[in-house]
Amino acid sequence: MNNNSGIVEGIVIKAFGGFYYVIDGGKEWECSLRGHFRHEKQQVLVGDRVELTPRHGRAGVVEKVLPRSTVLVRPPVANVDQAVMVFALREPDPNPGLVDRFLIAASVNRIEPILCFNKSDLDVDTQLEFIARYGQSFRVLVTSAKTGEGLDQLREALRDRVSVFAGPSGVGKSTMLNALIPGLKLKTGTISDKTKRGKHTTRHVELITLPAGGLVVDTPGFSSLDLPDMKQVDLAGHFPEMAELQGECYFTGCLHDQEPDCAVKKAVESGVIQKSRHLQYLEFLGDLKGRKRF
Ligand code: GDP
Ligand code: ZN
Repeated sequence: MNNNSGIVEGIVIKAFGGFYYVIDGGKEWECSLRGHFRHEKQQVLVGDRVELTPRHGRAGVVEKVLPRSTVLVRPPVANVDQAVMVFALREPDPNPGLVDRFLIAASVNRIEPILCFNKSDLDVDTQLEFIARYGQSFRVLVTSAKTGEGLDQLREALRDRVSVFAGPSGVGKSTMLNALIPGLKLKTGTISDKTKRGKHTTRHVELITLPAGGLVVDTPGFSSLDLPDMKQVDLAGHFPEMAELQGECYFTGCLHDQEPDCAVKKAVESGVIQKSRHLQYLEFLGDLKGRKRF
């Protein structure tokens, strides 16, 4: 994007050796930072949208970081649009409580979740109920990184967006990224294999342009998660199927637990909200109640 002043707008895809690599359409710029960044101690993150002044060839100087929509800490990336949350349907069996904690974390970080249930090539008939638990309120993809099932839909979901992969270890995240990004060659296999082979290799986080379009963080994000701290009354806001009914309960600030005339509990009884999701919600609520606050 080149405007009249000669300033170019682009996205930082990696930082290395004091340089920031910025793409603008098909072009990649190798940039240094304008001096004020050092004085103001402002950090430039991968994923940042920046304005740069072109110099000779493909060299440039980053002048300014544009406001960020989101900031992830692990991996440190700005402006991620969506998180592909990968779980295996088998080996390891999915843990619904963990899936729900991931969904809450995405919601707290204002990142759209895409649930990706992988290893569909294994014996997964008994997992249909588990999959159905989410279909109503979330985007769900069923994939096999091994056979390629569902990967076209995944590529489509990644197009034109900035995405990060997340999920527990062993579910197939690395295998999937390798399938999506030709030449990536992330290590796959058992955890002990990976730590053995990968111990002394620190990876720099990088955004990779996918062949079909879209940017993806080349290293998977958080693998296990605690329930983020929050007020009990805010918890239901992170369950979209409950958030939808906000304001319809008799009591303001209803926690959808013991209160009479609760729209959420009615929706559970009539089957509109999955009972297992409500039970998980109540478990998290109890968890928050038990935490000492200040
Ligand atoms: P990560 O820890 O989430 O990055 O998982 P990996 O990509 O390292 O995969 C863990 C193990 O699961 C490896 O042995 C993979 O070969 C295997 N795996 C990954 N995807 C699939 C799949 O779709 N089906 C089957 N059956 N195995 C898979
Ligand atoms: Zn209620």
